[in-house]
Amino acid sequence: MNTNDRMTQESEKDTHLSQLASVGQIAAGIAHEVRNPLTAVKGFLQLLQQDGRNEYIDIAQSELENALTTLNNLLQVSKPDLQDEESQTIYLAVELESILNLFQDKLYDITVNTDFNYTNVPIVGKKNQFKKAFFNLIKNAMESMYGEGTLSIMHDVKGNDVIVTIKDTGVGIPKDKIQLLGTPFFTTKEQGTGMGLTQVFSVIYQQGGNITVDSQEDQGTMFTIKIPKQQQVKQRGVKTLNLHYEERLTMKDFFFENRYEFEERLLLEAINVKDKIEEIHKIGNINLLENAHKLVLFVVEEREHELISFAKQEGMAWAKYSLTLAFKLEWIQAIRRTLWDFLYNFDLLSKTEADRKEFYTLEKQINENIDQFLTYFFISYSNYKDELLAAQRKMVDDLSVPIIPINREICILPLIGTIDLMRLSTIQEKVLSQIEHHHIQTLIIDLSGVTPMELDASNQFIKIIEGISMMGCKTILTGLRADIVKNLIQIGVGFNPLAEFKGTLQQALNDVIYDSQLNK
Ligand code: ADP
Ligand code: MG
Repeated sequence: MNTNDRMTQESEKDTHLSQLASVGQIAAGIAHEVRNPLTAVKGFLQLLQQDGRNEYIDIAQSELENALTTLNNLLQVSKPDLQDEESQTIYLAVELESILNLFQDKLYDITVNTDFNYTNVPIVGKKNQFKKAFFNLIKNAMESMYGEGTLSIMHDVKGNDVIVTIKDTGVGIPKDKIQLLGTPFFTTKEQGTGMGLTQVFSVIYQQGGNITVDSQEDQGTMFTIKIPKQQQVKQRGVKTLNLHYEERLTMKDFFFENRYEFEERLLLEAINVKDKIEEIHKIGNINLLENAHKLVLFVVEEREHELISFAKQEGMAWAKYSLTLAFKLEWIQAIRRTLWDFLYNFDLLSKTEADRKEFYTLEKQINENIDQFLTYFFISYSNYKDELLAAQRKMVDDLSVPIIPINREICILPLIGTIDLMRLSTIQEKVLSQIEHHHIQTLIIDLSGVTPMELDASNQFIKIIEGISMMGCKTILTGLRADIVKNLIQIGVGFNPLAEFKGTLQQALNDVIYDSQLNK
């Protein structure tokens, strides 16, 4: 076969595969339409079942559940834009490494060869979608080899594209089946869903990429994926710009006179932020362009005080609305570069021709101011996040010691999970302060949901019970399991019990409420 033949064949394959990607989308459309009536039927079945149980309804329900799961799967894999994920810079080689780690346990008899070149060339896209796609491809390759063989993954750059190939020495794909790859539900596996490649093709085509398959039965299969690399607009060195200048214009006025040119240049520099400006404005009411002018003004006029308070305020807003830090960093760096271009042009136009010393002084002053902005921005950002975290931790602490009042004197504390020394100190603090605060007379602690305690934890637990009794409150322990009882005996509790023991929480509640009614 000469190269020409081969190329025609490949391009035919391309149209075929891209068509399949759209088949996936049509299927998703239908799935969406069918899901609604099925959901309605599900509701009616539920109503019917309330009138009286009927095994046929059970069967109908479980079949319907299967159908809905299938539809949801289809919707998930074949319409990636349904999930709003931001596009971002992706270094595919890094992602491939991390995906391979997920297959660690399957690598006993499979040799993995990686040949990663130009790993620093990124693409742009939805990262999770891409990860899922490569996961699906590698999974298929693994499955085709039945646990034994060689998996070769290559990463390279050719022209404008990042190329990844995934090659296995598995069973291969019969010629007549190649046409079906990527069709939703096409599978040759007993447990297969036939959704993997549908997702793969549709993600790759959506991101302007392309995928081809070469396969030989009993020899193996190679998938080749091409994705356009991220366009870099890196200009090194300063630019002579066409800016407006009049005699004796101050630097501040120079920036003001050329504010539109400044915005234009800034947007060229900050390619990833450009599309986010409106969104950020909507989410946090933050006007990035206006703020850029403000920052420049504070920097060139050396208004340090205002600069710092502005930075703090921005850091907090950024944290509050959980905006992406990478954007902020890119934005400030773009501002710095644009600012320098402008300073250079100002120097040219005003013919001040600063001497070396003056230049270095200016350099230091401007960059220090911008660094200062960044420093205060990040400190205030992280302070805000820390406070949020502390508040959440407190909430989790509170939730981990749920003291539930039954009536004015009686409370229940159901403990669940692992009780270690850390948690015991939270429990101690909460319990004692609640007893004091609400004058609790009886505290029922239910231990049926805790995992076995270490000996030192049991010891500490007893100390808490002593504390409770010192505060004049009675403890009733319920739900004790054999292992906990064993520990308690070991540390000598039981002869001089500070607590009462009841089998179950229910029993304790019955007794206690009965007692308290008797006492009235
Ligand atoms: P599933 O893995 O659930 O069957 P996929 O969409 O991932 O669904 O794959 C569809 C079918 O394509 C598989 O059942 C298999 O027949 C074929 N296939 C995909 N990748 C390979 C591969 N690397 N080697 C051999 N067959 C493959
Ligand atoms: Mg698969």
